[in-house]
Amino acid sequence: NDIPRQVELLTIDVATPNVKYTDTHIISDYVYHNAIVSKNSEDTFEVLPTETKYQFKTELKVPKVGLMMVGWGGNNGSTLTASIVANRNNISWRTKEGIKSPNYFGSVVQASTLKLGVDAKGNDVYIPFNQILPMVHPNDLVLGGWDISSFNLAQAMERAQVLDYDLQRQVSPMLQEFTPLPSIYYPDFIAANQCDRADNLIPGDNKKDHLEHIRNDIRQFKAANQLDKVIVVWTANTERYSEIIPGVNDTADNILKAVEQNHPEIAPSTIFALACILEKTPFINGSPQNTFVPGCIELAEREHVYIGGDDFKSGQTKVKSVLVDFLVNAGIKPISITSYNHLGNNDGKNLSAPQQFRSKEISKSSVVDDMVAANQILYKPGEHPDHVIVIKYVPAVGDSKRALDEYVSEIFMGGKNTISLYNTCEDSLLASPLILDLAIITELMTRIEYRADGMAEFVPFDSVLSILSFMLKAPLVPPGTPVVNALSKQRMAMENFFRACVGLAPQNEMLLEHKAP
Ligand code: NAD
Repeated sequence: NDIPRQVELLTIDVATPNVKYTDTHIISDYVYHNAIVSKNSEDTFEVLPTETKYQFKTELKVPKVGLMMVGWGGNNGSTLTASIVANRNNISWRTKEGIKSPNYFGSVVQASTLKLGVDAKGNDVYIPFNQILPMVHPNDLVLGGWDISSFNLAQAMERAQVLDYDLQRQVSPMLQEFTPLPSIYYPDFIAANQCDRADNLIPGDNKKDHLEHIRNDIRQFKAANQLDKVIVVWTANTERYSEIIPGVNDTADNILKAVEQNHPEIAPSTIFALACILEKTPFINGSPQNTFVPGCIELAEREHVYIGGDDFKSGQTKVKSVLVDFLVNAGIKPISITSYNHLGNNDGKNLSAPQQFRSKEISKSSVVDDMVAANQILYKPGEHPDHVIVIKYVPAVGDSKRALDEYVSEIFMGGKNTISLYNTCEDSLLASPLILDLAIITELMTRIEYRADGMAEFVPFDSVLSILSFMLKAPLVPPGTPVVNALSKQRMAMENFFRACVGLAPQNEMLLEHKAP
């Protein structure tokens, strides 16, 4: 963790009177265009174009940030840690295909670009995503976390069987110094088959003490590493759903009281979320369970702390949120989506238990809802494609998850189209970069505030960070607001929001400069 920092400097300068640069901030004036639609009768819509003025204020100084992972010694946690160490130290390794060097492929922030505008000849000009605003570089993240397994990160990396041996061999000595903090384990929430690795536990069974313990861990980590901020990401096992019980986890006050009373329905992940919120530390849930019960969301809103979730969107679901969007927007009607997965890593082992599978099934099931609801020509109200999810544990395939998907659609004049996909994806190598994106964008959001017309002060955004949706399978959104699953819309939301912060209009692909020069 002790390395020189590589802060990305802001390299763009937008020439408009709408943007002011100070030594510490960018302040942009932004007009948000929308349209309010009301339906008058069966077939008339009244559309009222609206303009709302906002100011966005972004702090330029990139802070020193700690990333604490819950489930640090798992496949994702160990893969990400080893990969950051490899990147920091520029460690190359040999494989039978030759020499490989480290990268951050799969991270939107580190490895994708966005279109800034066009040059004098009308050609697109792209910049790395992380150049639009100053963002933390992954190599600068101070890493830490918790695990119920006592393996240090070198042992955990070996257990995960994800990275090539020659890379493991070289980073192993550097990973030995990383040891996960003891964690909380309520056996009822994860599969029984996980109990043999639970040898690194915070003593006692009192949830109030556990909450205080985790809060103290965050404070100590921050102080010991002289950090400005900490972001916590849950990449531990998928838990079963918590039952929502009135008086227990339905309000902020009730959930805090339920923790005091050691209520059995408060999950470990919710204890972590509550501890983070009380420590003013953003918390992201990378697994599918309902960590964010209503009381937890209310507490985050009350304390003005950012939360995000649920469930990393890595392979099969990412494809689904592209493919169904494409089909429905092409006027083609998916009538069945059948998704089989098999995997052989510890995540697969945990998901082989019915209640943990159920969490994943729920998370994977709702991803096409908004796309279906958007096309009332293809789907009658309430109509939905058949959507079935199967997950099987097959130890022999290890971390190399197989996803088999069949999409059957109704096409022109009663015809049928069947698309069959076979996706082999090294699961942890797809998921780990998402942890970075989630942490880096969340940190950036803590430095941006807004002021709508008539507001005296700049304030933070809603606590539920729906801007993270691109990376998440079942995006958590502020209560009562719509969920967007379509990947292109999610990407547009991120890109256009950051453009707004530097005074640029939303991206549009009309290319009028070529059509009407
Ligand atoms: P993993 O089983 O290898 O790692 C999970 C780790 O969490 C284990 O080391 C376990 O000991 C630890 N753990 C369990 N309960 C804990 C607790 N209460 N406190 C601290 N540590 C605890 O799993 P993984 O492959 O790293 O995946 C992690 C999570 O991310 C899973 O829930 C998985 O469903 C989710 N996820 C993964 C992907 C992917 O592509 N890899 C995609 C979406 C979601």
